[in-house]
Parts: sequence; C-alpha cells; structure tokens
Amino acid sequence: MPPSIGNVSFWMSELGVPRPTDRLVGDAEADVAIIGAGYTGLWLAYYLARQNPGLSVRVLEARFAGFGASGRNGGWLTNTVTGGHDHYAAKNGRAAAAALQVALNETVEEVIAVTEREGIDAEIRKGGSLIVARNPAQLARADAFARDAAAWPEEGFRRLSREETDARVRVAGSLGGLWQPHCARIHPAKLVSGLADVVRGLGVRIHEDTPVERIRPGRAVTATGTVRARHVIRATEGYTATLRGERRTWVPLNSAMVITEPLPASVWAEIGWDGYDTLEDLSHVYAYAQRTPDGRIALGGRGNPYRFGSRTDADGAVSAATVAGLAGILRSWFPSTAGTPLAHGWSGVLGVPRTWRASVGYDPATGIGWGGGYVGTGVAATNLAARTLADLVAGRDTDLTRLPWVDQPARRWEIEPLRWLGIQGIYAAYRAADRRESRGGAQTSRLARVADVISGRS
Ligand SMILES: Cc1cc2nc3c(=O)[nH]c(=O)nc-3n(C[C@H](O)[C@H](O)[C@H](O)COP(=O)(O)OP(=O)(O)OC[C@H]3O[C@@H](n4cnc5c(N)ncnc54)[C@H](O)[C@@H]3O)c2cc1C
Repeated sequence: MPPSIGNVSFWMSELGVPRPTDRLVGDAEADVAIIGAGYTGLWLAYYLARQNPGLSVRVLEARFAGFGASGRNGGWLTNTVTGGHDHYAAKNGRAAAAALQVALNETVEEVIAVTEREGIDAEIRKGGSLIVARNPAQLARADAFARDAAAWPEEGFRRLSREETDARVRVAGSLGGLWQPHCARIHPAKLVSGLADVVRGLGVRIHEDTPVERIRPGRAVTATGTVRARHVIRATEGYTATLRGERRTWVPLNSAMVITEPLPASVWAEIGWDGYDTLEDLSHVYAYAQRTPDGRIALGGRGNPYRFGSRTDADGAVSAATVAGLAGILRSWFPSTAGTPLAHGWSGVLGVPRTWRASVGYDPATGIGWGGGYVGTGVAATNLAARTLADLVAGRDTDLTRLPWVDQPARRWEIEPLRWLGIQGIYAAYRAADRRESRGGAQTSRLARVADVISGRS
C-alpha cells in the first residue's frame, strides 16, 4: 500500500485539507441558493456574480469547497459528451448534437481563459487525449471508434498507427490508438480551491460544514438554518442520494486513483510522454492517466463500483485490493515504473443517471434547478452546465439553454437490491470480457455487449 490513503485525495492533501469556514447559523435570505461547492456550484456562483454583481448568492456545502469529485478527479479537462452523440442526434437532430459537442470544445478553452484571467494557477497543460488499444479486440474497437468518429468531426478524434501512438506515449503492448486535441490536464484541487477563493472575492458566501437536508421551492433546509431564495440549485452530483426524495435520481459510482512518486528521467526516457496528453485504454473497465508537471503518473479506474444503498466513501478511503488492481494496471502499461513507489491512493464518487447522460434543468415555476450526472466526465461539463444554469436562472433564452442536454426527463434507478445486483453484475461482466479479450481474439466479448444492453448504454 502507498504511505498515504484517503485524506480526500493526493491533490487536496498537497494543498492541505482545508478546515470548513462560515457555517450557516440561523435563517438567511438570498437571490440564489446553490447546494454543493464543487465545480458545478462554484462555476455557477462565479458566472452569476460576474454577470450581476448585485445578486445575492449563497453556496451551502456539507463539508468544504472541493470535498467531492472536484477535489479528487483524474484532472482531464476534456470535451467528452457524456453518453455519446447518438441519442441526441436521434431525438433532437444532428445539428443539436453537434452544437453540444462544439460547446464542450469551447468550454475547454473557456476554463483555460477564465483561470488565466482570474489568476487561478491550476497547472493546466493542454496536450490532447490519447486512447491506446492493447489487444486485438481493443484494436477492433479502435477501428469501430474511428468509423463512428468520422461522423462527428467536431469531436476531433483521429486514428493513430502503432508508431504514431508510440511517438506520443509508449504503452507496453500498444497496437495503435486514437487521439483528439480538445483536452488539457489540470490539478483538480488547485482549480476548485482557486475558484472558491475567486468566488468569495466576488462577495459570494460559501457556508461550509452545512449539509442541506431538503430542497423545497424557495428554500434549502439545514439543521442550523434555512436559506430562503427565489432560485435553489442542486449541484450535489454523486452525493445527491443523501437528499430527501432524491435517493434514486443518480447513483454514486466509485472511482479510485493512485499516484506515483516523481519518476526518474531514465523512466521518462523509456516512456516518452513528452507532451501532456491524457491517456486511457480501450478495456471495458477502462483506466485513465495523466502525467503531472512534477513528473508523476496519476492513474484511475474502477474499484468496487457501487456500495449497497448508494453509500459513499469515507473521505476518499480506498481498499488495498483496489490500490493493488490500479498498481497492476500502471505496471503493465509502464513496466519501467516498477522501481518507483506509489505516493497515495484515494477514491471518490461520480453521479450516474439511469440514462448515463448528464443533464441541466430548471423549473421556472418552482425556481428549482440542477446540473450533473456527468458520470466520469464532468471537469469541463460542469463549466458548461453552470453557464447554462446562469442563463436559465436569469430567464434568458440563449444558444446554451437550447442545447439538447437541457431539461431531459429524469428516469429513476431501480430500488435495492436490484440496483446493487444490476451494477455489480454489469461490472462483473465487463471485467470478465476484459479478461477474455486479453487472451486474444479480435472480437469484442459478447459479455460486454450484453452488459451494454443491461446498463442502458447501447
Ligand atoms: C476519482 C475520480 C476521477 C475523475 N476523473 C475525471 C476526469 O479526469 N475528467 C472528468 O471530466 N471528470 C472526472 N471525474 C468526474 C468529475 O470530477 C465530476 O464530474 C465533477 O467534479 C463534478 O463536479 P460537481 O461540482 O458536480 O460535484 P462534486 O465535486 O462532487 O461536488 C458536490 C459537492 O456537493 C456537496 N454536497 C453533497 N451533498 C450535499 C448536501 N446535502 N448539502 C450540501 N452540500 C452537499 C459535496 O460535499 C461536494 O462538495 C472524476 C471523478 C472521480 C471521483
């Protein structure tokens, strides 16, 4: 096991896990109450405050700003449309799906521009995104991916030969890959805590250590007081099930990470990775990684995917088995890292809707809105959600409010134990499919196809 486990995340521990401040004491009023101080809530507070300095905005946060996925993630600021384009193209037309893709491409640039403008040093390095195929079945999926990608040139993916892939990053056993330019690596905790500082500087109160128990039209109710507000926005992502009435809205799926100590120059010489491409593979239970500016590799993937009853982790704690699994992936991608120890392991939760598609919504009649369900791709999408919510709250009809992920009808998850059985079963099938594919064979395992159908992802 690495010397450090949990403690929210490596990223947060590097900054020093903050002590909560400004707990809500007694009742209060605001124009907008935002529940959750992750990227969604803080970006929303940011745009509201910048666009209308007279507006009173309060953020209510159960622990501290950045406690959730925003302080723990893999640091891919990427243009992914969560759940893919096809549903939107079928339902809203190709142009609408393409508009969402273009908006996400622009969001990557927006985050980079705002952090520069506001003096947030989130160590952002834009190097694109590389996907590597490591067995024949994965290579066949890379070809299929490239055929689909040809229909969505806005996304920017192109197929790479094995040599082109190796020229970017030398992953052991690579047979080729795909690459797209709209992705940057970031330091997740520096982004979220820097954003919190900027938002406070704009006059927004962030009440930490203030868990909201219930959201009702016009109010957010906590044990220490109620905030009355015309607009109440839920930005609680993987923790949404803890709110009354929201148990089956989005399930919390676990994602875990490990990070190495800085790697010696000799290891980097073997691996290459001279740019800042983010990296993932094409296995069904995929793993993803980034190179940090101080020469570490941070790698993430699924451990135990889901805890019964939608429970979440304790401050990022992660099991020895999950750490060992991720370390195994790291060493198999990069055997030359074997002599460099891990520095830290942690976990967090993603919010997963039954449709596996993120959404933004606002009901003008009740004043209640939400943004989330990003599955594993929210670092950029949170910013787009927040700008969209700012328009919805202001009653503006804009290009953003017309994007096809706005006001998608909610479909709820099954009751327990069906939820637990279904999710465990899906991931067991994906793992088995990965094991079969790693033994050879050029076809995607049928187990994975069945799991796609059961999960609602195909
Ligand atoms: C390990 C991991 C790796 C990931 N890697 C990537 C990646 O590389 N790229 C990418 O795009 N996405 C990634 N994601 C997903 C991404 O981090 C999230 O989509 C994004 O951070 C969501 O931001 P958020 O503000 O909506 O939610 P969060 O950051 O989870 O914030 C929600 C906040 O709400 C608070 N809260 C919850 N309930 C209440 C309540 N009742 N009252 C008050 N406050 C409450 C929580 O304490 C928390 O601070 C990853 C996620 C994890 C866990």
